[in-house]
Amino acid sequence: MPNEELHSPGYEIPPEMQNQVTVTTLDRIYNWSRKNSLWPMMFGLACCAIEMIATAASRFDFSRFGMEVMRPSPRQADVMIVSGTVTKKMVPQIVRLYNQMPEPKYVVAMGACASGGGPFKEGYNVVSGIDKFIPVDVYIPGCPPTPQALLNGLIMLQKKVERESLRTVRWYSREPAKPIPVPVLGPDLMDPRRYEEIRSYTLSKLSLQTAEEQTEA
Ligand code: SF4
Repeated sequence: MPNEELHSPGYEIPPEMQNQVTVTTLDRIYNWSRKNSLWPMMFGLACCAIEMIATAASRFDFSRFGMEVMRPSPRQADVMIVSGTVTKKMVPQIVRLYNQMPEPKYVVAMGACASGGGPFKEGYNVVSGIDKFIPVDVYIPGCPPTPQALLNGLIMLQKKVERESLRTVRWYSREPAKPIPVPVLGPDLMDPRRYEEIRSYTLSKLSLQTAEEQTEA
């Protein structure tokens, strides 16, 4: 963090003291350390993942931003980069991995597919964006986004982390965070949060069908 930013606690510091002591807020130092050690989870879904791999390699090198440690385990990761087409078959696994990540955790939707379905939107086997299932912090447009675009998205995430406050962050709230119900893949993808809606829709269709059959008889 540059000196000017660190020395901005919200009140004036005498010039003769500025190089002797650092006065800052707890939020600022807490967020500064977190934003410079965001560890992404090592997984990719489709073509966007190739760009993510390129971003980690030497030419673009996101270790410059403290993200060099891509973790193969969700239990050691801070950032889930959803890089690629989100098929219905993969959604239960993605939600399960998200639930296994400890707080604080963030999600980046990389590319058109992860953000809204992309070229496959409304296809029989894809979902229209991962944000239908898990909360997304940063969306990156493009098909595929360039490594520069991914870096820009990650810098946006760092700026979001900088703005958080210890008093309001969800992982210190009194209520324990509830895991997201893992969708079930049967003939189609079923989100447990929509069971009641699906049930009432099915019942209304059934009663309509029964009424039609009775009229015909
Ligand atoms: S957004 Fe484009 S490049 Fe990325 S996964 Fe979808 S089709 Fe592939």
